[in-house]
Amino acid sequence: MSKVLQQFLTENLTELHSQGLYNEIDTVETPNGPIIRINGEEQINLSSNNYLGLATDERLKDAVTDAVRKWGVGAGAVRPINGTLKVHEKLEETLAAFKGTEAAISYQSGFNCNMAAISAVMNQNDAILSDELNHASIIDGCRLSRAKIIRFSHSDMDDLLKKAKAAKELGSYNKIMVITDGVFSMDGDVAKLPEIAEIAEKYNLITYVDDAHGSGVLGKGAGTVKHFGLQEKIDFQIGTLSKAIGVVGGYVAGKKSLIDWLKVRSRPFLFSTAVTPADAAAATKAIELMMESTELCERLWENADYLKSGLKKLGFDIGHSETPITPCIIGEEKTTQMFSKLLFAEGVYAKSIVFPTVPKGTGRVRNMPTAAHTKEMLDRAVAVYEKVGKEMGVI
Ligand code: PMP
Repeated sequence: MSKVLQQFLTENLTELHSQGLYNEIDTVETPNGPIIRINGEEQINLSSNNYLGLATDERLKDAVTDAVRKWGVGAGAVRPINGTLKVHEKLEETLAAFKGTEAAISYQSGFNCNMAAISAVMNQNDAILSDELNHASIIDGCRLSRAKIIRFSHSDMDDLLKKAKAAKELGSYNKIMVITDGVFSMDGDVAKLPEIAEIAEKYNLITYVDDAHGSGVLGKGAGTVKHFGLQEKIDFQIGTLSKAIGVVGGYVAGKKSLIDWLKVRSRPFLFSTAVTPADAAAATKAIELMMESTELCERLWENADYLKSGLKKLGFDIGHSETPITPCIIGEEKTTQMFSKLLFAEGVYAKSIVFPTVPKGTGRVRNMPTAAHTKEMLDRAVAVYEKVGKEMGVI
């Protein structure tokens, strides 16, 4: 290794470890269901984004097996050459039906979907109004576009209005976009989409919603935009196929002309091979199941309400979540990490999330209840929270 790299790594890794900010990665020894095993220890899993339990669903596994038999294991090329198989097309048609849009395009992940879609439309002559708590992939997508990035305070509609007005009055931007998460992943709060749509209409803004955590959860599963009945007002409905849908990939749903443009100008679509036929078939099956029945979505909410009320009754600060995402805010980084470790020792896997993912001093243990948890599992988890909370003097 070159000396300069060695010095850089040693200095920075030492610093991270000394501040308690180095995130050790756990390896899961079982499928990522409601009960998992890590380091040989069985744990109630409260950390995965597998909202509806579909990541381990037998019907999706069957769809994968059939797709592998029929299509093989790889797409074989990038989409515009000959890597667009019938299974990709079917996925995109199903996504458009699910989202209530004219068309949809899929990508290899939600992360690169944001990188792809923002930079395909926005450029150095444009501006983007971006919520300060937007996901890292939105931030990177905005940077890649080279548009002027104007951050507005989190869900602060006065600030957005003020900044939209100022950007418009400056008169030097060709296009202005407003971009937000539908559901904010660290706090579980929902974007104020009706107000955002109103401001967008007033100032002729392009509207972009990343609904990674809202799809499968809000709007009877169809997402945050549907929840507010704003399908006609939001230009880009972005999502991931890796959370409620349980597989991997990302997508944009919108008007046909937008999707046509992304198919010829978004770089990960043009230059990176598509998801495998198995992924596409499994995601399609998941969406079909979600459209057929809202049962899993209802169970998710029931479980989330149950867990939230259990933790709240014990006196934990669970923030102001409006969705199943249930943060338990502890505060200081090392205390938060210790809290999570003690939960683990008692058989509850709930990961600590600290700076830089959330602001310093707002460390939290984030709980992600799913449709696959039973009441007994949640009761056990709450009992462990009570024990650890009292031991550590948090409650
Ligand atoms: N956007 C948001 C809001 C997310 O929470 C995530 C997942 N962490 C992503 C995008 C990225 O999605 P994926 O995991 O499919 O790349």
